[in-house]
Amino acid sequence: RQFNVVVTGASSGLGLATAKALAELGNWHVIMACRNFLKAEKAAKSVGIPKENYTVMHLDLASLESVRQFVDNFRRSGRPLDVLVCNAAIYQPTAKEPSFTAEGFELSVGTNHLGHFLLARLLLDDLKQSDYPMKRLIIVGSITGNTNTLAGNVPPKANLGDLRGLAGGLNGVGSSPMIDGGEFDGAKAYKDSKVCNMLTMQEFHQRYHEETGITFASLYPGCIATTGLFREHVPLFRLLFPPFQKYITKGYVSEEEAGKRLAQVVSDPGLEKSGVYWSWNKNSSSFENQLSKEASDTEKARKLWDISEKLVGLA
Ligand code: NDP
Repeated sequence: RQFNVVVTGASSGLGLATAKALAELGNWHVIMACRNFLKAEKAAKSVGIPKENYTVMHLDLASLESVRQFVDNFRRSGRPLDVLVCNAAIYQPTAKEPSFTAEGFELSVGTNHLGHFLLARLLLDDLKQSDYPMKRLIIVGSITGNTNTLAGNVPPKANLGDLRGLAGGLNGVGSSPMIDGGEFDGAKAYKDSKVCNMLTMQEFHQRYHEETGITFASLYPGCIATTGLFREHVPLFRLLFPPFQKYITKGYVSEEEAGKRLAQVVSDPGLEKSGVYWSWNKNSSSFENQLSKEASDTEKARKLWDISEKLVGLA
């Protein structure tokens, strides 16, 4: 049979390139979980994904109601779930004021972390039921949340502190819109959300790998300087960032190459190990990378899990 993979945010950038790379392998059907149905349909057509290799299904991660609806719709489709890829993200580096999800959580953490947290928790049951021997749950991470790297040390640095803002509901009314309880900073909120993504992957591994055999993984695909992620940045940044990454840091990777890397984490039998944060070296070979101190803090991962459960209504 065809294997089924749900990819969130497959309407552009890394998600779209991954959908294309998987479709090219032939035996994958990609459920493109996207907030803009028409954009996703057009995107799939524009990169030439054959009709029989994809289905677009509506998902807005900035609404927990929409996440639950997506799960219902997916189940009604009758397809088994073999792999889930949590890829979608927003980045608001120039926002002066916070914006909020339908439930009133600061938008970057609400979308990138809490929406995916609920989605992954609900779909875990579906993954468990799949008979595919290499079932996987992948959460896209980033180097920007890794303060043990050069790029991760560009201010403002990620820092979840003691999670007091998150515990307070991240709503900017009674509590701070930032996880650590500080002043709003859009770039930091994104980096914090990526640390949450990497901690969540490890906590999933801790709790469920042995029992379910599911492989849990995260990755840093490289700096894909051309994607829509940087759409809200100032024009000069958008002009200079790709050549800077290409020629100065040499961390640049094309969307196509990054898509192949994520598709590898989805489908390569060699990348079966669970609890790993994958990265690629200059020759595009994968290796198990180290996470920063905060992004591998087991106590914080547990605390983040517990608070997130409460916020999304699972506890
Ligand atoms: P893009 O902006 O190109 O893609 C992000 C995707 O997320 C889009 O499809 C977007 O939908 C979707 N999305 C945003 N908000 C929501 C929402 N509320 N509900 C559903 N989908 C949503 O960025 P990238 O491809 O660069 O980012 C993909 C992943 O890669 C992210 O997790 C990012 O953190 C990670 N990453 C990116 C790097 C880079 O250099 N670009 C480096 C390291 C990691 P729409 O098309 O409708 O806007």
